[in-house]
Amino acid sequence: MAKLSRELKAQGIDIVDLSIGEPDFDTPVHIREAAKKAIDEGFTHYTPVAGYADVRQAVIHKLKRDNDLDYTPEQIVVSTGAKQSLANAVLSIINPGDEVIIPTPYWVTYSEQVKLCQGEVVFVTCSIENNYKITPEQLEAAITPKSRLFMFSSPCNPTGSVYSKAELEGLAAVFARHPQIFIISDEIYEYINYEGKHESIAQFGDLINRTILINGLSKGFAMTGWRLGYLAAPLAIAKACDKIQSQFTSATCSITQRAAITALTGELTTAHEMVAEFKKRRAYIHTALKTIPGLVVNDPEGAFYMFPDISAFFNKSFEDSQINNADDLCMYLLHKANVSVVTGVAFGQPNCIRLSYATGMDKLEKGVERMKTWLGKLA
Ligand code: PLP
Repeated sequence: MAKLSRELKAQGIDIVDLSIGEPDFDTPVHIREAAKKAIDEGFTHYTPVAGYADVRQAVIHKLKRDNDLDYTPEQIVVSTGAKQSLANAVLSIINPGDEVIIPTPYWVTYSEQVKLCQGEVVFVTCSIENNYKITPEQLEAAITPKSRLFMFSSPCNPTGSVYSKAELEGLAAVFARHPQIFIISDEIYEYINYEGKHESIAQFGDLINRTILINGLSKGFAMTGWRLGYLAAPLAIAKACDKIQSQFTSATCSITQRAAITALTGELTTAHEMVAEFKKRRAYIHTALKTIPGLVVNDPEGAFYMFPDISAFFNKSFEDSQINNADDLCMYLLHKANVSVVTGVAFGQPNCIRLSYATGMDKLEKGVERMKTWLGKLA
């Protein structure tokens, strides 16, 4: 969609892009200054694969401050992004034939990484009634003797759903009965949480010994291009991830690492300001989408996405446009309404579309207005 939108924009068409997967904010000034200083101070050489010792200390500081979790430096591996940390973890755990439970909707990278390791993906479909979150009963039913890993994100891309303490405790109780299962907890949207305090599943029971906690700078600090993620894991897994990463990419950028120390240990004021802005936009788009007949709108508590059910438009048409599925609806919205959104097929939920509100309020208003007009024509 991003590529198509760019092509249409290049033709001079006014596209409202609601397909964006990154904050539309600039990296905070104090973090940028730290990077400039790092260049001037000559931090331009290879670094240890898992990151400079003081960067790993900064990660440990952050995990204690925000999540009340204790780690040693050997348990931390800094990478070129949460995506690489996920890949390191999956590669280190999964052997051919191992089953990996993934609640859907989910971020597509999860299943693709599992397939690269010849693992078997076991999808569990989560319903809008439970705000697209897996229940303990669903989890229990999906577990077999071959289950090796559970992968999820909270706050979630694409739904924006956030697991509460009670919900995570419910899942932890199931995992307590199945000690062979590791958990990958992707917390990259941690700070973009509107309702309450972020909770990590690693905090419950003995799960710190089986959880690979993934996080990074991309979303909370608006640093997608800088490329820094990290994982905190049981020692054996962290060691394996270090080895794997040493053969793929080595460490991430030295300058980014210096800036990360400032990001991870400094004030979170700018992150909170950004989230306050996202919160206003969420309030607007949540209410506005509900005024469009046919959309079933979910209640996201985090991230910057809406994930409405659009199946009411299936088998409808307008002039030469016939809507049979979410892909058709996305193309209709792009070409007729000039609004770019992402099909839910990409996230394992073909009845939905994903809209990002990581864009200015003026564009959101224009986008929703256009959607309302063009969806209203389908009959
Ligand atoms: N995890 C989720 C759920 C994401 O949505 C993304 C990016 O869109 C990532 C991980 C990747 O983050 P990074 O930029 O740190 O690789």
